[in-house]
Amino acid sequence: MTPTRTDPETGPTAFPEVDDAVERARTAFVPDLGLAARLDRLHRLEDLIRENRGVLEEALAADLGKPAHEAWLTELGFTLEEVVGIRKELRGWMRPRRVPVPLSLAPARARIEAQPLGTVLIMAPWNYPVQLVLSPLAGALAAGNTVVVKPSEVSANVSAVLAGLLGRYLGDCVSVVEGGVPETTRLLEHRFDHVFYTGNGSVARVVMAAAARHLTPVTLELGGKSPAWVDDSTDLRTAARRIVWGKFVNAGQTCVAPDHVLGPPGVLADVEPELVRALAEHYGADARHSDSYGRIVSERHLARLTRLLDQVPAADVVCGGSADPAECYLEPTVVRSAPDGPLMAEEIFGPVLPLVAVPSAEDAVELIAAGDKPLALYVFSEHRAVKDLFRRRTSSGGLSFNAPLLQLSSPHLPFGGVGDSGTGAYHGKHSFTTFSHARAVLDKPLGPDTLRVVYPPYRGLRSRLAAAAVGLRRPGRRTRHAVSKI
Ligand code: NAD
Repeated sequence: MTPTRTDPETGPTAFPEVDDAVERARTAFVPDLGLAARLDRLHRLEDLIRENRGVLEEALAADLGKPAHEAWLTELGFTLEEVVGIRKELRGWMRPRRVPVPLSLAPARARIEAQPLGTVLIMAPWNYPVQLVLSPLAGALAAGNTVVVKPSEVSANVSAVLAGLLGRYLGDCVSVVEGGVPETTRLLEHRFDHVFYTGNGSVARVVMAAAARHLTPVTLELGGKSPAWVDDSTDLRTAARRIVWGKFVNAGQTCVAPDHVLGPPGVLADVEPELVRALAEHYGADARHSDSYGRIVSERHLARLTRLLDQVPAADVVCGGSADPAECYLEPTVVRSAPDGPLMAEEIFGPVLPLVAVPSAEDAVELIAAGDKPLALYVFSEHRAVKDLFRRRTSSGGLSFNAPLLQLSSPHLPFGGVGDSGTGAYHGKHSFTTFSHARAVLDKPLGPDTLRVVYPPYRGLRSRLAAAAVGLRRPGRRTRHAVSKI
């Protein structure tokens, strides 16, 4: 029988291990954790990645058929760079920042101090299951928090490996909860000081509703349809290579992958053979035998994609389309689609690239503006006016000209969505900010007591001085008269 226990805050539970994990993280929280202790935690996180590259790569290969090179580039090496960057800058970020005080408050000193939030929850999805746990974790630890990590149950091998490693390297400040919906539901009943969730929008609503019960702030890193615009001013061969790389890395299961390509009909006709050529360059004649091409995470996820593809007429398939459920393999596929075709209803999140013809850049902008705000928008054009048009008239988490995915690899750029593609951002200093509270600290000497001008009774010279001090003019007679007439 499952042991049960009653948590004073959340009631009876069938998941004592979930409650224990939260309790451990809460108890371990130290409100004024200093620089040395935080650096030590970041060093241990670095060690975890460096010393366990092999086992992490194996788990990624088992879950997603992720090639080792890709695993390093997009998960381990990427995250290591993020942790090292944060570690090197942390001292400066932690320093209280003096800010000026207005004359009306003088004499006084004011500063902003970054404080840890407390115990935070990080929930990760399966597509980059190492990076999307460890990269926000670096920010949360740098900011001095303790953390409960919930890896995705879909990438079960990585989840198990991370649970073991995080326990070994960072067990004093990080607890891991493994499991699916029941465990996560229980986890979300607890009060956290911040919830950082990466995944799809439907679950984000569940997470946000659960957090709202405790007034817990959330960061939501979501997805959606990220378009790429291509026109005749660009070098189509290079553009096609880059689009193919950005789309088919991790077998299309990347939140910022170009979801579809928009362009004038003539340009798309010219792009088609370039995409086919780039696919052959990257993955050979048969991607199934390429050691550079990944797999779909599960048969269930593959079935969703093949159901989508079944709705595409054979005449609209430019290349690809074959699948093998036994291997969770889906061939890199390029199709033609109408703007309201079956592939345009939801985020594709797989190796299927629709080419959607629109008459002009203005039409593309209108189409984008009519939908949910994308996580990423890519523009392949040399026309300054076209670049400006997309920059001024669309909104998206990120905007990148001529290169997909790269916007998220600069630690100086915030990575996050807007509207349906997410709330909040992280990476580099933005991670530190996300997981810190910016506390306003004012220090005003007791003498001389300049505050006397604001004390009641509100009349006479004092009242005039107080009004002048905050930049307001006392209403004159005429104004008073005018007001009383209204
Ligand atoms: P997923 O199924 O692994 O779910 C994410 C997390 O939510 C997991 O930890 C899971 O256990 C939990 N979860 C699932 N169902 C739940 C429920 N009913 N109640 C509570 N918790 C639940 O991953 P996913 O959502 O399929 O991930 C893919 C989506 O994530 C895509 O939309 C993609 O675009 C998006 N994504 C966004 C980013 C980003 O950084 N913005 C990165 C990767 C993926």
